[in-house]
Amino acid sequence: MTIKLNDSFSGMKEFIPIEKNKVKIYSCGPTVYSYASIGNLRTYIFSDVLKKALAYIGFQIDDAMNITDVGHLVGDGDEGEDKLQKKSTQENISISDIIDKYTNYFYKSLDDVNVKLPSKIYKASETIDTQIELIKILFEKGFAYTTSSGVYFDISKFPEYSKLINQKGSDQNEHSRKGVVVDRTKKNPQDFRLWQTSYPNHIMQWDSPWGRGFPGWHIECSAIIYKSLGQSIDIHTGGIDLRNTHSVNEIAQSKSAFNTNFVNFWMYNGIVLADGVKMAKSLNNIYKLEDLEERGIKKISLRYLYLNSHYSVPINFTFDSLYSIENALGKIYNFISMNKNLYDENIPINKDYKKKFINQIENNINTPGLLEVLWNVIRDENLSIQEKLVTIIDFDRVLSLDFINYFNIDIPNDIMELLDKRSQLRKDKKWNESDIIRNSLVEKGYTVIDLKDSSLIIKK
Ligand SMILES: [Zn+2]
Repeated sequence: MTIKLNDSFSGMKEFIPIEKNKVKIYSCGPTVYSYASIGNLRTYIFSDVLKKALAYIGFQIDDAMNITDVGHLVGDGDEGEDKLQKKSTQENISISDIIDKYTNYFYKSLDDVNVKLPSKIYKASETIDTQIELIKILFEKGFAYTTSSGVYFDISKFPEYSKLINQKGSDQNEHSRKGVVVDRTKKNPQDFRLWQTSYPNHIMQWDSPWGRGFPGWHIECSAIIYKSLGQSIDIHTGGIDLRNTHSVNEIAQSKSAFNTNFVNFWMYNGIVLADGVKMAKSLNNIYKLEDLEERGIKKISLRYLYLNSHYSVPINFTFDSLYSIENALGKIYNFISMNKNLYDENIPINKDYKKKFINQIENNINTPGLLEVLWNVIRDENLSIQEKLVTIIDFDRVLSLDFINYFNIDIPNDIMELLDKRSQLRKDKKWNESDIIRNSLVEKGYTVIDLKDSSLIIKK
């Protein structure tokens, strides 16, 4: 068994874990100052399927994630106003309420798309001691220096830096950014902040050997990885937008502090465009899960949509594409629902298809390939229905598309009668009346999925 994964910095290579049968994996978490968008969710759906896929082939998963609740400034790098502080002023509630509100929303959104939370999650503000400890090590080893505004990492002491950063798409030159206040006493323009002391009015501040202040954004991930998983890890995930700034700074910090390889595989998911353009507030196209629900689309369809493309490529999100995904997913649910009485867990899983499924995992987590194997199982006329059912249920340990929910549904007769009545109304093109029944079914706790020739009902 050879597992090939792509490391963004060195290319495709064989995956050999640091510790036998175990995967240490870290995911860059969100800054909790706004609602998680469907674009944000791609990152976590990817890390979830990656972990479930590796667990499926026998690895034990040791995972961690940060929640940025301090120090992530508007300039996306080291400068500008604190995003949380700005939002707290805008919404006129305390910073801790902002953090709770958007962290809870983030967790709920992950749950809605079947993303299992990492076993270790730290807020940046809970790990200030470790961050200070790390900065101290960097000082002792000569990688850090102070200015009037704080503590900086000296990139000239880490020659690998320019090689890592000299990649297309780099936007490291913060001098060129609008509205950004730059500390001109820094030794090199790309030196980044480890500790900030120049914002006396900042609400979240701590004492440190360099004065009262708060950490730079990048140091928290290095510190949380060290605290939760150790000096070296197997895989680090995140959105591709983090690669040339945040990740390179993490590498500089951790490699300099510990002199280890730090991360063996950097795996980034591609961006999500909406209707062909970048999601932006000004374009009013930053969608969240509720926007799907409002259009009658099940939230889990988003997970299928993302699995349907390779994690590394950009995705262009449109509602039309989601409607067709929902139709495909509905066919699988219908297949399960119609045949649920035939399910027998004692029937063995089809070995040939399981092998094909594993091959796709080993091929750099090829999720479109996983879905193709799934569909081949459903369509294969040589397989018994029993064999199909146990096999696809087994695959759902990785895919997490809620297949199991379609087994134990006992829909009461009165609900089925309403569904039949609605189906007839739809055939007669009496849309308004059929919508009234749909709404009453939703109120009673059911979801209705309309397929081409029939409707499927699911208890929420
Ligand atoms: Zn991070």
